[in-house]
Amino acid sequence: MAPHEIQLDTYESGFYKYLLSDHADTNKKSEMKIVWRNVILLTVLHIGAMHGLYLCVAQVMWTTFFFGLFNVIFAGLGITAGAHRLWAHKSYKAKFPLRLLLVIMNSTAMQNSAIVWVRDHRMHHKYSETDADPHNSKRGFFFSHMGWLAVRKHPEIKAKRHTLDMNDLWSDPLLRFQYKYFAFLGALFGIAIPSYIPTLWGEKLENAFFVVGILRYVYSLHGTWLVNSAAHIWGMRPYDKTINPAENLLVSIICLGEGFHNYHHTFPWDYKTAELGNYTFNLTTLFIDVMAKIGWAYDLRSVTPDVIENRVKRTGGRSHKTNAHE
Ligand SMILES: [Zn+2]
Ligand SMILES: [Zn+2]
Repeated sequence: MAPHEIQLDTYESGFYKYLLSDHADTNKKSEMKIVWRNVILLTVLHIGAMHGLYLCVAQVMWTTFFFGLFNVIFAGLGITAGAHRLWAHKSYKAKFPLRLLLVIMNSTAMQNSAIVWVRDHRMHHKYSETDADPHNSKRGFFFSHMGWLAVRKHPEIKAKRHTLDMNDLWSDPLLRFQYKYFAFLGALFGIAIPSYIPTLWGEKLENAFFVVGILRYVYSLHGTWLVNSAAHIWGMRPYDKTINPAENLLVSIICLGEGFHNYHHTFPWDYKTAELGNYTFNLTTLFIDVMAKIGWAYDLRSVTPDVIENRVKRTGGRSHKTNAHE
């Protein structure tokens, strides 16, 4: 076991360790044992989000509502452009200012530190839809959506985790810093600052906390979870019909372009995570392209049309234009 593995298994910071990371996955008999702490935390969060929804309709200021939407995108890009496309898949490179910005955006999302998020996501790709996949969609919609956070992890996850190489992330001081101080950074960027800013234009602190803090957080969580649940069940499979991940437009709209999931599991190194729909349903691609224009992102990796066409002919379904007339 590598030293960093030990560090990951023994050190988790504060509140978040109960929500989006290890749940003492050492007991092999406790595979489906419920982690009540997480169940209670998720329940409280959802009650808070319902109250936020009520405040949103009943009394929140328009400026606060739009600031909440801005935060959905700001935090969302921290997951999609940061944790997912940059750190998990290395589909492009980023200079220091962009990496700093993405660490702040990623902390705002409060989906655990990027290192822990990437570890789970690399397991998801490497062992997709097996017991070593943290949100194995073969265990049903609810499990792959949010149920996986409410039970102890399957022992296969721990048994195979050592096969991942996470040294690229551990070698980045920014990510090590975020990992170490994640409880503080998450509370600061995810709750404190978004709750404070609307008070500057006269919003009540309670409204800002429940709408921009809690409701925004729960909405973003479901956006990410839908990629693991809905986009592994419903949609066309034009690139590889032998796998479950599918092209799901609704998930792409909700999750800033991450719903083109059959393409993504077929070509995970493409920074666009999609062949079609860029700029319309894929805000993350637009963001990365803008960053490339100003020189903060570079070495964007993609897939050429002939590679896509060859793959479609080999494994794709009839829903792709290449195979449509067969
Ligand atoms: Zn991925
Ligand atoms: Zn997936």
